[in-house]
Amino acid sequence: MERELNEKCAVVGIFNHPEASKLAYFSLHSLQHRGQEACGISSADGKKVHTIKDRGLVSQVFNDQKLTTLKGSSAIGHNRYSTAGDDSILDAQPVFARYDLGEMAIVHNGNLTNAQEVRDRLIKKGAIFQTFMDTENLIHLIAKSEEHKLLDRIVDAVKKIQGAYSLVFLSRTKMFAMRDPHGLRPLSLGKVGDGYIVASETCAFDLVGAKYIRDVEPGELLVFEKGKEPTSIKIFEPTPKHCIFEYVYFARPDSDVFGKNVYQMRKNMGKELAKIDPVEADMVIPVPDGGVPAALGYAQESGIPYEMGIMRNHYIGRTFIEPTQEMRDLKVKMKLSPINSLIKGKRLIVIDDSIVRGTTSKRIVKMLKEAGAAEVHMRISSPPTTDPCYYGIDTPDKENLLAANMSNKEMCKFMGADSLAYLTHDALLQSVQSENDEYCTACFTGEYLF
Ligand code: AMP
Ligand code: SF4
Repeated sequence: MERELNEKCAVVGIFNHPEASKLAYFSLHSLQHRGQEACGISSADGKKVHTIKDRGLVSQVFNDQKLTTLKGSSAIGHNRYSTAGDDSILDAQPVFARYDLGEMAIVHNGNLTNAQEVRDRLIKKGAIFQTFMDTENLIHLIAKSEEHKLLDRIVDAVKKIQGAYSLVFLSRTKMFAMRDPHGLRPLSLGKVGDGYIVASETCAFDLVGAKYIRDVEPGELLVFEKGKEPTSIKIFEPTPKHCIFEYVYFARPDSDVFGKNVYQMRKNMGKELAKIDPVEADMVIPVPDGGVPAALGYAQESGIPYEMGIMRNHYIGRTFIEPTQEMRDLKVKMKLSPINSLIKGKRLIVIDDSIVRGTTSKRIVKMLKEAGAAEVHMRISSPPTTDPCYYGIDTPDKENLLAANMSNKEMCKFMGADSLAYLTHDALLQSVQSENDEYCTACFTGEYLF
């Protein structure tokens, strides 16, 4: 049980709606970008909590017949992204349990930083774990709490955990939503019909016709009970440190997260990037899809024409090919291919949102040079990623992060580019209109919150 899982996932909760599981299904569809490994939905009909979960995409796991078995007017759902090799169905969510107060299911986006400590303590007291998920700790903490009501047990349990968490709990009759005191991962509240929805991103609201009310506050627990407005309980004093990487890469551009539109924030990053190490060029091209809004911002600010010089194939899914160098190159070509006639002889500014291991940039530069580009200037719309994330975004260890191990010059040489420039930390904060130091930027600074 030493394995640690970094979870970058999506959560959703629907309360008091006749089509609860269907709305959860559609919401998970719109949140598919947050995790493609596994998904699941639990529904509650007042007497029982029903759960279906499996490996695969939302459209592969669910169909009409399965959704009709998920009865009841409340439902919670989860999309899971897992690190390579973590492919057990046991690690899919919702996590379901029967305990002395009845039945309960939990979904979690984030990563608990004291999970091992809590788990060791629970195991010493005789707890038996079925999965590697830190989320299972919560089930045990709730089941073992000496409080008599589920609400008090949840409060008891969250006081024992530390880290990043946007959580939704479902019992047979109630639903609870909770965000960690820093509000590291997003969670928004909306109204749908006569009921309510909570979801990782507001793009889920748009799809199911829900109206955004507000974000669940950092440190806040919301209690949903039939016939009542949601009750808000402040469990912790809020100390906001929202994940800035949600704006850089992770969230969908049509979502508003942490109260601001993601597309707009990315475009601002591109505009700021255009002011750093400007270079003469014939066109600005994005690495699709992540680099698109920043490239538009860059082109508008610099006056250099924007072109879609690289096309992305959206239909490749998983490729089970031998990991030889030749085959890896082929895999990138399957995903991204240049428009040769557009690129030939041109000086290009290529925009991507981030460099992690450097594999993508290296292959893109090679591909564009092979297509006849005269110059390739890589521009990255975030600062160098020098440190891993422990709060719910899957990043490799420091030794595998390109920017942690090479200077700018070395990285530029490594990828074969004519120049390389990153957005600065200050320019990133300016792009997201940060005023109160309310963002976590630890993967760019190494200054962790805990
Ligand atoms: P790499 O090839 O390892 O340098 O990865 C960089 C590419 O992966 C960029 O095009 C990013 O859009 C994308 N990316 C950045 N962060 C992540 C992440 N946490 N998980 C998956 N892809 C990512
Ligand atoms: Fe987000 Fe980076 Fe902080 Fe992780 S370390 S929560 S990815 S800003």
